[in-house]
Amino acid sequence: MIRFEQVSKRYEDGTTAVDGLSFEVAEGELVTLVGPSGCGKTTTMKMVNRLIEPTEGRIFLDGEDIAGVDPVELRRRIGYVIQQVGLFPHKSVLDNTATVPHLLGWKKAKARARAAELLDLVGLDPAVFGDRYPEQLSGGQRQRVGVARALAADPPVLLMDEPFGAVDPVVRERLQSEFLRLQAAVHKTVLFVTHDIEEAVRLGDRIAVYGQGRIEQFDTPSTVLGSPATPYVADFVGADRGLKRLSVTPIEPGDLEQPPVLRLDDPLSAVADRLAAEDARWAVVLDAEGALRGWIGAEHARADGVVGDRVRRMEAWLPVGATLKQAFSTMLQHDAGWIAVTDESEGGAFLGVLTPARLHEALRRSTAADARDLARAEVELETVNGV
Ligand code: ADP
Ligand code: MG
Repeated sequence: MIRFEQVSKRYEDGTTAVDGLSFEVAEGELVTLVGPSGCGKTTTMKMVNRLIEPTEGRIFLDGEDIAGVDPVELRRRIGYVIQQVGLFPHKSVLDNTATVPHLLGWKKAKARARAAELLDLVGLDPAVFGDRYPEQLSGGQRQRVGVARALAADPPVLLMDEPFGAVDPVVRERLQSEFLRLQAAVHKTVLFVTHDIEEAVRLGDRIAVYGQGRIEQFDTPSTVLGSPATPYVADFVGADRGLKRLSVTPIEPGDLEQPPVLRLDDPLSAVADRLAAEDARWAVVLDAEGALRGWIGAEHARADGVVGDRVRRMEAWLPVGATLKQAFSTMLQHDAGWIAVTDESEGGAFLGVLTPARLHEALRRSTAADARDLARAEVELETVNGV
């Protein structure tokens, strides 16, 4: 969708802001550009909507060289969100959001209806916020209006330059989650600039780690964290990259252990034998549909009746696909030696349990997978370059 071919930008004072950049962003992909201040991220972004012209190289949008596209026409296809939002102070929130549809000559009612729909989408009730002015909003709310405005004409591409940089960490996390949910609904092709590695790995399908005017590594968050390509990248992602990695690695069914399983109507008298047979100290308890109902230990089973009478509530559980970080934090929170994992798309069906040992294995499993992906990516690159 967006392709850079050997793009360089030298400013008139001789500063080389971007140096021979080549990369590609697929349709519907969210790529974060991350690097320290002054490394050329904003310059890269502004070349896509021709606010800045490259000195060398070519940029393609949907296969078309943008050098030949009228900048005004080009910008209609590209939503742009910046940190300073740039809302018009004398216009209402609704009119700010409808800016581009107005420019495109949409009928007033249609433009306002579209703006209201988008405000809703970014979590601002148009009935409450539509008639307010920007100064009557919090920083986070202004940022949401900025995103709504950028999406108003439904552009296929979104450029976002540190859009959440000016709000406090709590609001920032909320805006990030909301944006991920939004992106899952709208599937834009997004270039997202940030200097914050946490934000980059959280949001990006892939991340481009910038050195001075160049990309040092362009890969999935888990690969960048798991196998930094250069010492510079390793240094930039930080010594705690192992911890950061937890937050981008999902729990998979293969990571789980299978404890003994009992049903609600099994007799308690059978529990001890069952646990002894599998050399276990506890079993999970499922209902007739296979959904998780809790657990039971041998010490709870010294009575008459059925398992359902003595089942213990499961405090620590997560849906499959949750991250290893969530798993680890759930373990700590409940002081639990294991957590149950369920499949929410199958009505909470029990899949198995994650133990600390398995969590550790999962982390190593994903590193090995990354190494394989990397080898494949290099092969593909060679094919593309005709090497
Ligand atoms: P980032 O967004 O990563 O902080 P920029 O793309 O804004 O970086 O800037 C990259 C480099 O280009 C910096 O050294 C910056 O000082 C320089 N630069 C940016 N804009 C201009 C300009 N208009 N004229 C000269 N140098 C510039
Ligand atoms: Mg910048």
